[in-house]
Amino acid sequence: MRTLIIGGVAGGMSAATRLRRLDESAEIVVFERGPYVSFANCGLPYYVGGIIEDRNSLLLQTPTSLAARFRLDVRVNEEVIRIDRGAKTVLVSNVLDGTSTAESYDVLILAAGATTGPALSGHGVPVRTLRTVDDVDAITSVLDDLGTGARAVVVGAGFIGLEAVENLVARGVHVTLVQRGPLPLSPLDPEMASPVLEALLDHGVDVRVNSTVADVRAGQVQLDDGSVIKTDLIIEARGVRPDTNLARSAGVTVGATGGITVDEYQRTSDPSIYAVGDAVEKTDAIDAAATLVTMAGLANRHGRTAADAIAGIAEPSVPALGTAIVGLFGLTVAMVGWSETRLVASGRPHRVVHTHPSSHAGYYPGAEQMSMKLLIDPETEALLGAQIVGGAGVDKRIDVIATAMAGGLTASQLSRLELAYAPQFGSAKDAVNMAGYVADNLATGATRSIQWHELDDAMGAGATLIDVRSVDEFSRGALPGAVSLPLDEIRTRVSELPDGPLVVHCQVGQRGHTAARLLTQLGRDVRNLDGGYRTWLAGMSATGTTAATNPSLAHV
Ligand code: FAD
Repeated sequence: MRTLIIGGVAGGMSAATRLRRLDESAEIVVFERGPYVSFANCGLPYYVGGIIEDRNSLLLQTPTSLAARFRLDVRVNEEVIRIDRGAKTVLVSNVLDGTSTAESYDVLILAAGATTGPALSGHGVPVRTLRTVDDVDAITSVLDDLGTGARAVVVGAGFIGLEAVENLVARGVHVTLVQRGPLPLSPLDPEMASPVLEALLDHGVDVRVNSTVADVRAGQVQLDDGSVIKTDLIIEARGVRPDTNLARSAGVTVGATGGITVDEYQRTSDPSIYAVGDAVEKTDAIDAAATLVTMAGLANRHGRTAADAIAGIAEPSVPALGTAIVGLFGLTVAMVGWSETRLVASGRPHRVVHTHPSSHAGYYPGAEQMSMKLLIDPETEALLGAQIVGGAGVDKRIDVIATAMAGGLTASQLSRLELAYAPQFGSAKDAVNMAGYVADNLATGATRSIQWHELDDAMGAGATLIDVRSVDEFSRGALPGAVSLPLDEIRTRVSELPDGPLVVHCQVGQRGHTAARLLTQLGRDVRNLDGGYRTWLAGMSATGTTAATNPSLAHV
């Protein structure tokens, strides 16, 4: 059995090594057009920033080490340029000397990864993607030559764009970030993306949102609004597109998403050809539709799935949740499943929970506050998605929620998870448990909530907004139109409240919940502002709407 693999990094190399562990007799040949295999592409930005100091630590394996341990025939600088499915051969071109050879296969695995969009023409300004060792060599060489005062434009504020920005800033480069949408990290909902924008601005990044590059000329970039930015380097980080050229030209089916269509064993429309990694469609865990998720974990796992299937082990892939995390200037941003924006766009009913828990017990030094958002199916209580932005502890919580989603737990069941606790690690009611309690209160009807973007309409319809924080907190900044009635005074002063519907709010939603429970039991029609003042402020800041007022102490 002769298996040829196209692409020698995440998916391709996982398939190759797994297949060898399963079948010592298989003939396995890996073609990689670049000079390196199995390199740490996720680590590349951190080499640019100097956090990873040793370039060699990016190069995890060599053809020699892979031959020694796995008896793999790994051929670098060898690009597959054509697949002949009828003859079951591929045409391979040596990128150094241009010679080509035909190689036959019994089974072929496509693991060619992704590309970015059409490259910008630099007209004298170096333009690089941030995808290969060659890219980071070129970027660091340009920056070394320029010394201090270098300027760079990063195009695209997705995961790789933000990692590029952080690491360029770490090197002392003045960075302009150009983003087509209104906020960085478009998979995040606006109120969750607002801290990301703040972090960029706080670190001196010149952020140009709602902008695209119109032209590049003699050391400067012109944006579509006519503004001009001087630059020494452009990092191209716009979007990630499945690299499907070979598959398309061979007549292997490519789906509407632009990725290669595969079954749950990573088999393409041709039963002798498997495909894995960024180039393939995944099945979405929320709606079972074809989707694109370009993450390393899935590439590695699906490489293993393909190898299993080739070796006769039927272990199907599971649908993709899209779990992802990125760090930016000390901020950790993580997400899983669908955003509210996506749920709204697809017309899918959902319930939203915002919380702002601490990373660990507040009384233990060093606790950091995070912002957490859950998206929940109101019928079944299934978890549809989560987003968390903060510092310490964000990574742990997103993984707990992703695990809960994979295991089919409902949102309320998060409250009943028995999670490890000591004060320096968490809270007796962990951040995940707390989000579960809020979800449970909504599911049972114990509390009704209102979202930050629904507040204006509710007040326009006659609701009274009550700020149940302390008078001191209220005086430091309050929501427009809010009146102050601190939580501890509600029982004695309830008669002062006007008739009609009430909306209560506090700083993060917790005291508001207590107030809502009390007022509900006193017979009032009341809703709690989900996530409190903090979420509202983040939402206003993200949408560029007027922020809080400093009231002349409006009290009921
Ligand atoms: P790749 O790992 O990209 O490998 C494809 C290989 O195929 C390439 O080396 C290419 O040269 C080769 N190739 C293509 N065509 C041919 C051909 N015709 N002949 C021969 N060889 C060919 N994911 C995360 O989950 N977390 C992260 O933190 C993260 N950070 C990232 C940071 C950066 C800078 C980048 C670029 C990606 C990051 N990713 C991250 C994404 C992750 O690296 C990819 O999802 C994963 O590598 C995809 O694996 P793959 O095998 O499909 O493609």
